[in-house]
Amino acid sequence: MGLIGNPRLRHILAAGWHGRCPACGGASMFDGWLTLVPRCPACGLDYSFAHADDGPAFFALCITAFPLTFVAVWIEVTFAPPWWVHALVSLPILAIGCLGSLRPFKGWLVASQYVNEAA
Ligand SMILES: [Zn+2]
Repeated sequence: MGLIGNPRLRHILAAGWHGRCPACGGASMFDGWLTLVPRCPACGLDYSFAHADDGPAFFALCITAFPLTFVAVWIEVTFAPPWWVHALVSLPILAIGCLGSLRPFKGWLVASQYVNEAA
């Protein structure tokens, strides 16, 4: 069985991507954008097992910043633009990339911690 066919991994990916409770899937694990609920309102799962504070931000930043560096260098080399072009183009991409990827990353970390804890 390959990694993708692993039901445990699929469960983690699905729960994390949708931000659902990894135990029952019946309610969101988030209260707001990135704050975890203390307990699942559907099944009462205690989220105190989750320690996903710094990891997701780091991963999201790396994954977003890496390609962005190439985009910024490409813009610089190709168009040699004034600094404000970078401010208008690069910074929004970075901000959107970070905010957009933080939540699934945090969800994946929480879900994988739950599955590993339960195992
Ligand atoms: Zn639940």
